[in-house]
Amino acid sequence: MQKIINRKCQGCNGVFPREKLIKITLSGGTLHINPTSKILGRSMYLCPDIKCIKTAIKKKRIYSALKFKNFDEISSLEKELLNPFGKLNV
Ligand SMILES: [Zn+2]
Repeated sequence: MQKIINRKCQGCNGVFPREKLIKITLSGGTLHINPTSKILGRSMYLCPDIKCIKTAIKKKRIYSALKFKNFDEISSLEKELLNPFGKLNV
């Protein structure tokens, strides 16, 4: 039996199996959407739900979870997360 690892969504604060969440990793001064966990670094998780993404952005959770202060980079990640034609199918 595979062990289920739970992680907290930074949007709704709900706890879910890790593979159900979007992983965002800070590596080399840039934020990456990291679905395969190939990128190593400090990470946070979000539900693949527009409400959680918007809450996390509004409450500056990307900044507080990752202690990352490059707001240009955060806003470009936000655009990527909210872009319906991007990597994320919400
Ligand atoms: Zn959530």
